[in-house]
Amino acid sequence: MANKGIKRTAEFYERLQKYILTPAQLKDNGFPEFVPGEPDTVTMKKSDTFLQNQCSNPNERTCVRCANRFLISNNGKIRCQHHWGRSFRNQPFSGCGCRSRSKGCVIAECHVYEDNKFTDVHGYVCTTEGTGVEEEPGVYALDCEMVFTTAGSELAKVTVVDQDLKVVYDKVVKPGNRVINHNTRFSGLTEKDLRGVTTSLQDVQDDLLRLFNDKTILVGHSLEHDFLVLKLVHRTVVDTSVVFPHRLGRPYKKGLKKLCEDYLGKRIQNKVGGHDSAEDASACMELMQKKVRMSSCY
Ligand SMILES: [Zn+2]
Ligand SMILES: [Zn+2]
Repeated sequence: MANKGIKRTAEFYERLQKYILTPAQLKDNGFPEFVPGEPDTVTMKKSDTFLQNQCSNPNERTCVRCANRFLISNNGKIRCQHHWGRSFRNQPFSGCGCRSRSKGCVIAECHVYEDNKFTDVHGYVCTTEGTGVEEEPGVYALDCEMVFTTAGSELAKVTVVDQDLKVVYDKVVKPGNRVINHNTRFSGLTEKDLRGVTTSLQDVQDDLLRLFNDKTILVGHSLEHDFLVLKLVHRTVVDTSVVFPHRLGRPYKKGLKKLCEDYLGKRIQNKVGGHDSAEDASACMELMQKKVRMSSCY
C-alpha cells in the first residue's frame, strides 16, 4: 500500500511539471524573490492597487476597502463605509453585488491597509534543497488567512493539505502587531480564535521549512499573497489563477469560488462565518487533479 501511495504521488508530481510557473511568471505574478547580493531583502512586482494607493505623506494611508485616504492617528475615529470584493470597469462589486460607485453597504469601525506586504521586505526565509533521493518532495496545497493590524495585513492562519486532501498542517498564528480588524468575512477568524495563541510567524516558517523542500510543488490560488504574509521564497509553484486564466486575460483573474463552480461543480466559500482555509486549499488541489485528468484525455 505504501509503495502504491509513493508511486501515485510521483505520478501526480510528474504530471504537474508543465504547470509549474516559470521564473518570468513568478516575477510577473508578484512572487517575492531575493535581491541579488542582499540575502535579507526581497523584491516583488507591486500590485496596481498598491501603486495607486501610495501616499506621499508617511503618516497617511489609503484604505484598501473604501479607498479613502486618512491619517493613521485618526484611524478608528472615522468609520469605514465600503463594499465587499472589487468592482472592475463599473461592474457590480464581486462580494456584495452592489452597483459600482454606490454608497458602501458595510460599515466598519476603522480603515485598513496592507502596504506592508510590499514595503516590509525583510525577515524572509527560503525553502532549501532536499537532502536525499529517497525523500519525496511531495505536492501540497496551501492557504493562509490574514487579519488587519496596525502594521497592515498579517498572517493569522495557515493550512496545508496533501494530495489526498488531508490537512497536514493547520495553525492559528499570533500576528506581530495589534489587530485592528479581524477581516472575519474573509478570514473566518474572530477575536476569540486568536485569544491565547502564541505561535509566531517565525514558528510557522520553521515548520514549513521542515515540511517542504525547494522541489516541493506548492499549489494555491494567487499564492503570491500567501507567500508575502508567510515571508516565504519558494519557486516551485502551481497557481490555479494562472492555470485557469480569465477569458479577458490579465490583470483579470477568476476567483477560486467561480473556478470550483465551473470545473468541479462545487460551491465553496458559502459559510456565514467566513472562508475556510482547509476548504480553499483542498479546492486548489482538486482543481489541479481535475486539470491533470482532463489533459490526459487528449
Ligand atoms: Zn455592497
Ligand atoms: Zn476604509
